[in-house]
Amino acid sequence: MRITESKKITDFFGCNVFDDATMKKYLSESAYKELREVIDQGKQLGKELANEVAAAMKEWASQNGATHYTHWFQPLTGTTAEKHDSFIALDKNGNTVLEFTGSNLRKGEADASSFPSGGIRATFEARGYTIWDCSSPAFIKRSKNGTGVLYIPTAFCSYTGDALDKKTPLLKSMEAINKQGLRLLKILGVQANKVIVNVGGEQEYFLIDKKDFNKRDDLRFTGRTLFGALPPKGQEKNDQYYASIRDRVSDFMADVDEELWKLGITAKTEHNEAAPAQHELAPIFSVANLATDQNQLIMETLKKVAENHNLACLLHEKPFANINGSGKHCNWSLSTDDGVNLLKPGSDPSHNRTFLLFFTAVIAAVDKYSDLIRMSAASLGNEARLGGNEAPPAIISVYTGEDMEKMFDAICAGEEVGVRVKEYIKSGVNYLAELGKDTSDRNRTAPIAFTGNKFEFRMVGASATLSTPCVILNTTTADVLSDICDRLEKVKPNELDGAIVDLVKELYTKHSRVVFNGNGYSKEWSKEARRRGLEVLENSVDAYETFTRDKNVELFEKHKVMTRREIESRQAIYLDNYIKSAGIEAETLIMMVKQNILPATMKYQSILASQINALNLVAPNLADVQNKHLLNVSELLNMLDNRIEKLKFAKNTAGQSKDVNKQAILVRDQVLTLMDSIREVIDKLEGMMPKDIWPYPTYSDILFYN
Ligand code: ADP
Ligand code: MG
Repeated sequence: MRITESKKITDFFGCNVFDDATMKKYLSESAYKELREVIDQGKQLGKELANEVAAAMKEWASQNGATHYTHWFQPLTGTTAEKHDSFIALDKNGNTVLEFTGSNLRKGEADASSFPSGGIRATFEARGYTIWDCSSPAFIKRSKNGTGVLYIPTAFCSYTGDALDKKTPLLKSMEAINKQGLRLLKILGVQANKVIVNVGGEQEYFLIDKKDFNKRDDLRFTGRTLFGALPPKGQEKNDQYYASIRDRVSDFMADVDEELWKLGITAKTEHNEAAPAQHELAPIFSVANLATDQNQLIMETLKKVAENHNLACLLHEKPFANINGSGKHCNWSLSTDDGVNLLKPGSDPSHNRTFLLFFTAVIAAVDKYSDLIRMSAASLGNEARLGGNEAPPAIISVYTGEDMEKMFDAICAGEEVGVRVKEYIKSGVNYLAELGKDTSDRNRTAPIAFTGNKFEFRMVGASATLSTPCVILNTTTADVLSDICDRLEKVKPNELDGAIVDLVKELYTKHSRVVFNGNGYSKEWSKEARRRGLEVLENSVDAYETFTRDKNVELFEKHKVMTRREIESRQAIYLDNYIKSAGIEAETLIMMVKQNILPATMKYQSILASQINALNLVAPNLADVQNKHLLNVSELLNMLDNRIEKLKFAKNTAGQSKDVNKQAILVRDQVLTLMDSIREVIDKLEGMMPKDIWPYPTYSDILFYN
């Protein structure tokens, strides 16, 4: 029975988390106070305090059935890693005791040699360290039979201090924006102790029957289908979006919710997405590093709970061709520690200095570093999704809403915009409510949309970590804020207002080319964007290349987010990942064709041939249809066999190149193109062959299961 059937959500929400209330309960008053200072103000964590916190955690964890603990981190593979240690230790007399010390909590040592480091770490320096991120609370996870493990979120770095994970740069980028944000707030006279990055990640996914999943090697090995003809009914009637949720799926969602709530994750919204068998889950936003950790847990929970329901959860960006893919919308905003949203326009945005500056800073950052923004959403999987008819194109632009655009145009033209805004309100249309309504209708075609009090980065792929896009949004915005502060810090207080307007004008005029409120899916926009001089990075390989541009390395080094070495290592890992993922796809396709599709087609050929023989004995023209089919099928069979050989050759050739960049280009231009051409043949064959001979579940089977 689900807990929700016997208890209120609030009675068990967060029961598996060492959260604030638990901390208070298990720590002495003074230790609690000290730990809060460590968490909230970034104070140093002393040895004594660490010991006390560790003892409290151990106490709480073992009372809640945990026998092990693990440092939990996010290596550059993009997933999470853990190694379990039991609490068991032997005391001086050889008696078994439970032990978990402050140093166990603070720091762990892991053999880093099997994690990708992009060349940073020579094998003789295989040691890696995991360091507690106390701003993301520890939690307990239980396996089916109830064994519990205490998870301690950590950052992961090498012996030499290089970041080997996705969390360290994220924390550093949050610090960068905190520093520059506070600088600006000080100039503006706004009281704050901290500038916080808030993130809400909407997670899209597909849910299919496990038995179909098991039969499709492509789904099992690559996460997506490598072929499959469109079913007679797709999503053309738009009858899936927000449709009533079937019992099987809502049972699944109820279990997911319960698991997430126990982990203190505020699973909030769930609905059917646009494609058949596609759904979405969104939690309430939280601080960026916590939201990132929690998103990893959400993905893991979706997969695990699906297994329990004989379902498979697909997080690939484009599991089915010609059907909507899945994204992870990264909703991003900045606030003070008092919860004041710095991107909220208020009732008179044109006179809201804080809003104007922070908003303009984001626009300028997106334009100045559009290459990095684009790169942060690049991956082999997302490449198939972007630019389709359902996801943002590869061109970076910001949707601001027309009202906001008009307001900025007026500011730039020196008009008194306050009056205009007041008119909007007077005319009975609530300015912001209207803005909100507009955006939900039209922002769908923009990679980044301003949605009233936050920016929604819609380009991120479903399986990606939220960390990378956040690092980029944080650092690039911090950089523009820093330039803004450099200017405004020199201005006399009585000239500040004028200087702010001048600066907003200057920045907006320079960077508004990135603002586009029209249809981002249209061909006209593609032309217009080029006319405006916006960079168009069509594919991941081109996008990855921009990571090491001088201006980008300078950016990360200036704000102490990443060193050149760390950037280069990440670039190498991205490319390597791209090549390897495509390689696995090619091998899987070759295997499926050789083992099942070619044999099935040959079987059909021989069935037709024997029918033709038999019919010819009866009368000469009786086998006309069979003859025609046999010819068609044989022609496709030939083509398929040919292209598979070409694919094998292309894959080998790419593999022989010593230069990863060249390899990636060969993979992109040869291997992936050939795979598309093979898919065309297979999809035609699928349409011609009898259902009982076709060896794999079809899109109709998979997407319209019971
Ligand atoms: P929309 O309809 O604009 O997509 P929703 O209310 O559905 O907005 O929110 C989508 C996601 O954005 C949720 O995860 C939500 O918690 C998050 N979100 C809402 N406000 C903010 C904010 N100020 N900063 C960051 N994320 C936010
Ligand atoms: Mg949204």
